[in-house]
This record gives sequence, structure tokens and C-alpha cells, in this order.
Amino acid sequence: MRETYSSAALALRDALRHAVERSAASSFGTLHRRVPPESALTGLDGTAQAARIRRQLERLTPLSCALLVVAHAPRTLKCSCGARCCSGGYPNPEWEQAMHGVLVHVTPLLARRAANRKLHRAIIANALTRTKETTVSLAQRCGVHPHTVATHIHIIEGELIGTRQTAGRFDHASESIDALLREAGVVAD
Ligand SMILES: [Zn+2]
Repeated sequence: MRETYSSAALALRDALRHAVERSAASSFGTLHRRVPPESALTGLDGTAQAARIRRQLERLTPLSCALLVVAHAPRTLKCSCGARCCSGGYPNPEWEQAMHGVLVHVTPLLARRAANRKLHRAIIANALTRTKETTVSLAQRCGVHPHTVATHIHIIEGELIGTRQTAGRFDHASESIDALLREAGVVAD
């Protein structure tokens, strides 16, 4: 178990990999048997540390919290249930719920444009996980014109990541959690 982290991102990654509420997952999640996380947090101390980090996360606004979960939580969880139909993993319900929260926030900004959930999810996930994907590749993947992709990227990234003039929502969330985790003694230089 780590006493302190050098950054909020590392602390969140560990805490969000750690199953704090083992039985609280969705009904889908409970069908599968979760593999112990590969985080630096192990055992009871790890559970306590993860809970400490999550408590700070819960102090933020629901949007800030959702942005940080999409950025730092695992998108899928590994499964050891051994069922023949199991692909060895299943979507992380916490990540899916956070993605839904971010979608609900950005949808009004795109109201006059054709709704394309798949495209919006891809843009949000790429932006928050700093994944580089070309406009052409995104357009092919989501079945839309590259022009449409470019417009939607501009709007969504402007809101979440910001522009040269203004900080985005994700920057605000990252600064807030950094301050809270430092105050709590979880993050230290
Ligand atoms: Zn399974």
C-alpha cells in the first residue's frame, strides 16, 4: 500500500481499480467474479486508502466526479467466472455511469446537431484519456462525415478540455481533486 502519491491521477487510478464496494456492483457485474485489482492497493490497508481517496472524490460536484472517473477508472473489469459465454471481462458499471453523466452534460451543447451517442462517447473518452485518434478514423468508426466529427470534437473538447483562453471542466475537476487529496495528505510532493 502506498502512503502517499506524487499525483492525484495516480491516486485516483489506484482507488478506482480497487473494489471498495464488492457487492454493490450492478446485477450484471455480480454475474461475474471479479479478479483482484492490479493496483498498488492491497489488503485491508488498501481498502482503507481507496475509501479515503473516494471520500475526497465524492466531495466534488457530480460532473467533476464523473469526468475524473471516465479519465481514471478502468473501462472494463476482468472476470474469472469461467462461464463459456464470458469474454473474460465486462464493462465497469462505475465507468458507464460516469460516461452517462458526462453525455447528459454535453448533449445540450450539441442540441441542434444530429444526436450520435456513439460519436459523442468516443470523443469524450478520447479527450479525457488523452487518446489520439484521427478525425478520419473516428468518422469511419462512428459512420459519420469527418466534418461532423470535427465540429463535435471542437464543441466537446472546448467544454471539457478548454481552449487557449479558458480552462475546461476537466481542468477544474483535476485541480479540485488535487487540492483535496493534498489537504487529506494522500498526495504530496
Ligand atoms: Zn464472467
